[in-house]
Amino acid sequence: MSDQYSFSQHQTQDGVILPQVLNRCPPGTKAHVLCVGYLQADAGFFLRGGNTSTYSNPDGPSKHERRDLVMYVVLIDHPSEGLILYETGCGYDYPNVWPSAVHDVFHRSKYLPEHELDTAIAKVGYNIKDVKMVIIGHLHLDHAGGLDKFKGTDVPIWVHKEELLSGFYSVATGADAGVYLPTYMTTDYNWKTFDERTTDLAQGLTLHHLPGHTAGLCGLQINLINSGTYIFVSDHGHVKENIWQGVPQGWLARDHQAWFNSNQRLLRMEKTMGAKIIPGHDEDIATPLFGKVLT
Ligand SMILES: [Zn+2]
Repeated sequence: MSDQYSFSQHQTQDGVILPQVLNRCPPGTKAHVLCVGYLQADAGFFLRGGNTSTYSNPDGPSKHERRDLVMYVVLIDHPSEGLILYETGCGYDYPNVWPSAVHDVFHRSKYLPEHELDTAIAKVGYNIKDVKMVIIGHLHLDHAGGLDKFKGTDVPIWVHKEELLSGFYSVATGADAGVYLPTYMTTDYNWKTFDERTTDLAQGLTLHHLPGHTAGLCGLQINLINSGTYIFVSDHGHVKENIWQGVPQGWLARDHQAWFNSNQRLLRMEKTMGAKIIPGHDEDIATPLFGKVLT
């Protein structure tokens, strides 16, 4: 990873420790970042102006940039709360769950059976049936599709109120068709909501409302005793260019002004907390975390 995206360049100095990072997870907490598959799509979806034509090159690039987008979830073994899951990936056998037109645009580019959510959890020694709480950063299909494993259970599914409203509204009216699916936007879940900008869900775990990509998107801040502070930001930033180079999101952008404000806020948090920010789909940044145990 180049220095441009390097973490921890802004550690607090002179012994000053901000209260936002003093709220650390209890000793014994373990966090696993699990790969749950790969999508490939045209760069124009997540980088504004990607693959565009110009006056001097009216046909555009001879070869359009496409990029593999990794999908991940975060499994937290929390001593006082039990197993907590942040996001769920896109669900079992998703080429057959997604509408074929969507799957053609966001195509499964690499696949191993271990990318299925329950298998990925089992691989690090846990059972999906033991998950006590699910947190959803945003309800788009590649992050909430795996909720199918919790359908009809009493496992609380925490999501920002604005996101739940958007998801149900979009499915009911077709206002933002395709990105939210009626398969999981149902009343068969134990939905739990909050509407604060910053919400503490458990010791060491804080959610930050970062609207823009969607109305209710939330990043998860986790303060770990040994590994430090991470902020997993779902698709507030699909890839590194969105967050650190200021390249706005492409065709997947919704409320750009809100997104810009959220990004400014996120960069301030990175600086003041010394936090490591993890975008939603950046292979270069997420891959080094796979197979590690954060403590
Ligand atoms: Zn996504």
